[in-house]
Amino acid sequence: MSDIGSTIWNLLPGWRSACFLALYLLIFTPLELLIPAQRGRKFFRQGWSTDLLHFFFSAIPITIGITAMIGGSALLGSLITPVAVTHWLVSQPIWLQVPIGIVLADLFFYLGHRLQHEVPWLWDFHAVHHSSKELDWLAAFRIHPVDQILERGTSLIPLFVLGFSPSAIVAIIVIFQWQSILIHSNVRIPSGWLKWLVATPDFHHWHHSADAVGHNKNFSGQLPLWDLIFGTAYMPSAMPERYGITDSISNNYLMQLLHPFRRLAARVLRRLKVRQPVSTPGPEHDPQGRSLYKLPGIDARGDRSASN
Ligand SMILES: [Zn+2]
Ligand SMILES: [Zn+2]
Repeated sequence: MSDIGSTIWNLLPGWRSACFLALYLLIFTPLELLIPAQRGRKFFRQGWSTDLLHFFFSAIPITIGITAMIGGSALLGSLITPVAVTHWLVSQPIWLQVPIGIVLADLFFYLGHRLQHEVPWLWDFHAVHHSSKELDWLAAFRIHPVDQILERGTSLIPLFVLGFSPSAIVAIIVIFQWQSILIHSNVRIPSGWLKWLVATPDFHHWHHSADAVGHNKNFSGQLPLWDLIFGTAYMPSAMPERYGITDSISNNYLMQLLHPFRRLAARVLRRLKVRQPVSTPGPEHDPQGRSLYKLPGIDARGDRSASN
């Protein structure tokens, strides 16, 4: 089998994915039963089979896409980053490289994530992730492959452009992966003041809240620091009661993959003034598809306010 063939074969859903699934089940299911953030939730909740399909099958395009973004970032780094900067970075111990890398990666994650909520065609991809009505560890995998490639790829840009050591980058990716599953889990973590330092389930659950008060809050993936700095942090003591969005998104895996492209086609047709029925945009977007969520410094129709 050729190198490309064996690479694709390794990416296919198989024993490795099944082993990770078993590991996540063994770790998070007891936690969700013992210390649930919300009690009385069913194990086989609405949409679990769709999320399982995301878990197994979306890994293939995601791996290919992120690999391409890593290659582009490394190439950019070789062109613009002074050699002295990279030498200094890789000469640092891994215990120093990892926290520096997490801070930088999460800043890029924050900025990319905020754009996903603001730019209509990016939101159409990201809306799939926000369509879960119930959150648990498996809901972390309900994400459109394009959305995941852009989100994860963006966070990795500074690491590969600056030239962190491979071992530091692997450690950061592993930490990020586990934390992204944890913050979606239905687990109550009594974190006290620590919740302002490290993202916890209650931090990210509010990002998924169906109530308007939680919209466009808590964009960071790992460090609430960036939401505190940019004025988008929101963490009351209670957990949100409802999750999801009002955009009409099917619970079918293939329809979720097609959702942003159907919205894009509808938008293009509308621009061409072709009269044909399109799905009604949810209350989060106006008829032009712009976000109606209100961000600091940005008015309700997505235009910059005069103060900025
Ligand atoms: Zn989001
Ligand atoms: Zn999420």
